[in-house]
Amino acid sequence: AEQENFLSDLTGSFSSPCAENPTVAVMEAAYQHQGIPARYINCDVGKEQLEQAVAGAKAMGWRGFNCSIPNKQAIIEYIDELGTSAKVIGAVNCVIIRDGKLTGENTDGKGFVEALSEQIDVKGKTLALLGAGGAARAIAVESALAGATEITIINRDKKKGQELVDLINDNTKAKATFKAWTPGLRIDPLPDILVNATSVGLDDADALPDIDTESLESSLFVADVIPNPPQTALLRKAADKGCRTLNGLNMLVNQGALNLTYWFDKEADKEPMRKVLQKLFTG
Ligand code: NDP
Repeated sequence: AEQENFLSDLTGSFSSPCAENPTVAVMEAAYQHQGIPARYINCDVGKEQLEQAVAGAKAMGWRGFNCSIPNKQAIIEYIDELGTSAKVIGAVNCVIIRDGKLTGENTDGKGFVEALSEQIDVKGKTLALLGAGGAARAIAVESALAGATEITIINRDKKKGQELVDLINDNTKAKATFKAWTPGLRIDPLPDILVNATSVGLDDADALPDIDTESLESSLFVADVIPNPPQTALLRKAADKGCRTLNGLNMLVNQGALNLTYWFDKEADKEPMRKVLQKLFTG
């Protein structure tokens, strides 16, 4: 008879707080569906315990782990090599362990560009981004590296917006400019792609970023980072105007798929992951 194998491949996440992070459910659904003998362990680890947690993961032969709040920057100190975009963004949310060597990647922007590429190629396109926080930073850098030509950063806080503009101009071939966010802002001139990368809309299906939605036209592609609820007020308005849209749930699914590929060198089947998130987010 064939020998039973009681040893799982280990993966997981280091963040704090973490009780509401659904990634464990997403990843374990994928492992089960694809017959990968692996587990994903959601660990409450803050900055104080991060060094020891990383040493523990290495000692236990983990394949890799995700990092979230408050560890996305702090983890860099313990990593041997950074992916191109992670280096520019200055934040890591996915770590791969191979032969005791740690590589850090940032999948926030990659998940976005990949989800987008199923509908529109970002290469040669112009983007306008609402927001200049972590999500905006990752999306701007990854879109620029993927060949976006012009990126307009629209943000309330000018300093943060200008910092992101400088980051893009100093590190990529894209041309970035800052636009101050005045109430009821008209999106003019219209870019090819408009992205809401603010937190407006999270857990509130009626919250709309303070822009003039009458300025949206059907030629525009509109994406939203908000995963929950997936159909945000912005995306509904955009769809009414005839725009093509992409929601934040798809971005999140692509991040799970990237985890699986980085850790197991396998293409991910996104359907079971999407199902888990859809069920969690629609109750
Ligand atoms: P940050 O706190 O780093 O940034 C928040 C940004 O939103 C800032 O630019 C802030 O502007 C802006 N903002 C907040 N409230 C308003 C408002 N009322 N009007 C205009 N601008 C506003 O957050 P993150 O970038 O980390 O996350 C943003 C969102 O992205 C979250 O909701 C998160 O759920 C989502 N996200 C989704 C992912 C996915 O895979 N789908 C991945 C990562 C994040 P200012 O600087 O002026 O304060």
